Amino acid sequence: MPNSVFMEDLDAFTYRRQLAEGNGVVLIPAGSIEQHGPHMPLNVDVLLSRAMSGSLAEAIGALVAAPIVYGYKSQQRSGGGNHLHGTTSLDAATIIAISKNLTLELARQGVRKIAFVNGHYENYQFLYEGVDLALRELRLGGVEDMKVVLLSYWDFIDEATIAELYPNGFPGWDVEHGGVLETSLMLHLHPGKVDVDRIADLPPARLPNYDVLPVRPELTPDSGCLSSAADATADKGEILLKRATAGMAAALETEFLGLDQR
Ligand SMILES: [Zn+2]
Repeated sequence: MPNSVFMEDLDAFTYRRQLAEGNGVVLIPAGSIEQHGPHMPLNVDVLLSRAMSGSLAEAIGALVAAPIVYGYKSQQRSGGGNHLHGTTSLDAATIIAISKNLTLELARQGVRKIAFVNGHYENYQFLYEGVDLALRELRLGGVEDMKVVLLSYWDFIDEATIAELYPNGFPGWDVEHGGVLETSLMLHLHPGKVDVDRIADLPPARLPNYDVLPVRPELTPDSGCLSSAADATADKGEILLKRATAGMAAALETEFLGLDQR
């Protein structure tokens, strides 16, 4: 049997043993099916949240549950918009139901330490709501010891790393869609899935600081990317993966393993 941190690679008996003998922490990657420009596939957020979870699991001795593949609707100001071809999203109620359901399902199997590792900006608050509802239900049923952490991996890239990797200025995480962060990570983790010849070198999208429904499609750049990926490199991806993993590991060790790193 493969020795893997990924639940779906394991047989049921090995999974149960690793869960019982390990520290009991289970990570749930959350992605999306969303356009990521002409140079990357629709499942970038799934691939990156899963890879981040794998790296994190190896660092702290956790297991990684199968990912949430679809995400909440792409927003024009952070993902180009849900009107774009290929972007295939779930309603908020569905995301809430999924995170609640998975929390309860893992709880039923005896898991008490869960972390959602989010890779799609728009998911976050709905994952949170599902977890909150699950914990309320568990408490009413007498389960008091469930603890859940929610995080988005880019929040663990510190200021020094941002200054190092964006010498020409940082556009902001919201417009880092199909830009340097995701493209560098993909070049490091899944180089065969990036078509570097199709990277569009354009200035960051100029979007208003408010939303309009229905969206005005002309506000989204034709490439679907909200900032340029021209400066992306595999080396930057390696640095991003290492720093994010270290930051997330410190947080989970503090919350789950009683090792206060702060
Ligand atoms: Zn993305």
